[in-house]
Amino acid sequence: MNMDFDAVYYEPDALNYKLGLALQSKYADLPWIQIESHNRIPEMTAAPNQDFPKLKNHLIIGTRKTHRYVPNHKVSDWLVPYTSSGCKAMCLYCYLVCNYNKCAYLRLFVNREQMLDKLLKKDSEASAPQTFEIGSNSDLVLENMITDNLLYSIERFSREGRGKLTFPTKFDMVNPLLNLDHKGKTIFRMSVNPQEIIQRIELGTSPLRARIHALNDMAEAGYPVGLLIAPVILLPDWKRLYGELLDQLADELSVKVKQSGFIEIILMTYSFVQNAINTEAFPNGTQLLDRETMTGRGRGKYSYRNDIREEVESFLRERLSQKLKTMPILYIS
Ligand code: SF4
Repeated sequence: MNMDFDAVYYEPDALNYKLGLALQSKYADLPWIQIESHNRIPEMTAAPNQDFPKLKNHLIIGTRKTHRYVPNHKVSDWLVPYTSSGCKAMCLYCYLVCNYNKCAYLRLFVNREQMLDKLLKKDSEASAPQTFEIGSNSDLVLENMITDNLLYSIERFSREGRGKLTFPTKFDMVNPLLNLDHKGKTIFRMSVNPQEIIQRIELGTSPLRARIHALNDMAEAGYPVGLLIAPVILLPDWKRLYGELLDQLADELSVKVKQSGFIEIILMTYSFVQNAINTEAFPNGTQLLDRETMTGRGRGKYSYRNDIREEVESFLRERLSQKLKTMPILYIS
């Protein structure tokens, strides 16, 4: 993964935090440009859509000021805004583009102590231990390469938390996590797609084989694990692609993952905003908006038609019952 940046945009207050100072010395060779707020960088908002890949080369550093938790009912109880938002990779369907438009570059928030304090308080005040999804705004395995925030979070939560942390990833850089004292309180979820889709659509993420190895390694290190088949993208030969993916998973996932892991499946949604940016920034990229199979869901969003979703669901359930029958499917959405 290319982790080179060309400039750092920073809120001055970030340098009052230990992590802010560490980043200042780590990226001392780059230009540092002061900003008023990570949410308002006028030159980036005004940039044309075709500059989207260039904007992804910037690193933004600030503090997270709002910490609103959203109730969730899948693997976790809460979606938590955590130590970063945005990402350096460029998956063509990235849901963060819906939220941040072309400003979906990586923003690091250096006040991690405050964020974890709040999370631990919520966990301790609840009537039962809670599960917190900390990776819904970015990819924390990628972020961890810069900040070591997962090391901090997993170890501190293992000592002080009652419930669980969880996050998904599309990256394989898990070596720093393998020897942590996690006490089984972090659920690691690896997102997978056919290698052809990774290459064409999940630009800048880890290859499938490396992701499978990383998932095996995390299970071996004692983490609870899950497999996220997401987002399912219906290219014209999707049955071949996903059939082969399941064959490969059946061959390469370890016994431990197969016996202890669970499966989540999410079909792709897409939006007018993503389509506008992709059309200008990646004119030769794979077209994801398919008016034959997709239907509008309001507010510029598209998802696959219900009859097509049913076909995909029964295809995947049938194949999974043959290939990975020991892994429960938590949901298909
Ligand atoms: S890895 Fe995740 S956060 Fe990063 S671009 Fe892809 S979908 Fe978005």
